[in-house]
Amino acid sequence: MLPFKLVYTDAYYLPIGDHVFPAEKYRLIHEHLLRTGAATPGDFLSPEPARDADVLLVHTPAWVTKLRSGTLSPREEMMMEVPYSPELVRAFWLAAGGSILAAQCALRDRVGISIGGGFHHAFADHGEGFCVINDIAIAIRRLQREGSIARAMTVDCDVHQGNGTAAIFARINGGAVVGFGGMGARDFAGVEGDVFTISLHQENNYPAFKPPSSIDVNLADGVGDAEYLAQLDKALSTGLHGFDPQLLCYVAGADPYREDQLGGLSLTIEGLKKRDELVFRAAKARGIPVMVTLAGGYAQQVEDTVAIHCNTVIAAKEVYGS
Ligand SMILES: [Zn+2]
Repeated sequence: MLPFKLVYTDAYYLPIGDHVFPAEKYRLIHEHLLRTGAATPGDFLSPEPARDADVLLVHTPAWVTKLRSGTLSPREEMMMEVPYSPELVRAFWLAAGGSILAAQCALRDRVGISIGGGFHHAFADHGEGFCVINDIAIAIRRLQREGSIARAMTVDCDVHQGNGTAAIFARINGGAVVGFGGMGARDFAGVEGDVFTISLHQENNYPAFKPPSSIDVNLADGVGDAEYLAQLDKALSTGLHGFDPQLLCYVAGADPYREDQLGGLSLTIEGLKKRDELVFRAAKARGIPVMVTLAGGYAQQVEDTVAIHCNTVIAAKEVYGS
């Protein structure tokens, strides 16, 4: 039995047809964790869909109404890059509910992992980049609303910048641009907001326009394990030196992998597991609960994406199991 919960439902499956996004990966991860003995059935919790009231803590009523009623414009549907259907909307509401549940579990167990979510490209008033609603932001706002936390930090390690998350929490990012080891961070010394956003990503990749996070680490093409881990360590140390979150939301994208079809970094599967361990160790050392979502992963071989995501669970087991 794991010392934390995994949140999963078969209904995380995204009904998007033949697509670069491997919609079956959630089911494959679940199966792989059980088959290898990394987890047992009792380790899993099944989420409920988020309530509309929770979604509305982040998203505009107009966007929620369009999704609920199927009245998106052709341009809005095109920007999502996934085909609209009522079933798609239901899967995203479940992803948001799963992230809420994982965050609640994290506050109790120190870590909680949703085998889904991480839809960081969704903005308050529109979806884009395979993301319809922003489950990470919804989970944070829900926990704040219920009084469980006041301050949160997002640590986004997907290869693509967390533009939706950065924009949703942008009021924290009003400081002047300062040097941060050449990484282009924002000045957060006088932060007054309640959510601190960190994004490590490939600079030369989607999204073309990157709304400023509290700390953006813009990585060059082809960065490998050693430099990535050094930059992550530095960003975490800097962020946690100046901000004291009560929840850390780790967006564990599998797409910094060197064989990813939509990424241009060069991390190995082993390096990605070290990344996970680094985040967990940094949070554990400071007593900060960690909610994990999986985000992107488009490896040539879906088995690699599955292995990288399963390793995140195994890393948590190794860090929190003792
Ligand atoms: Zn991505």
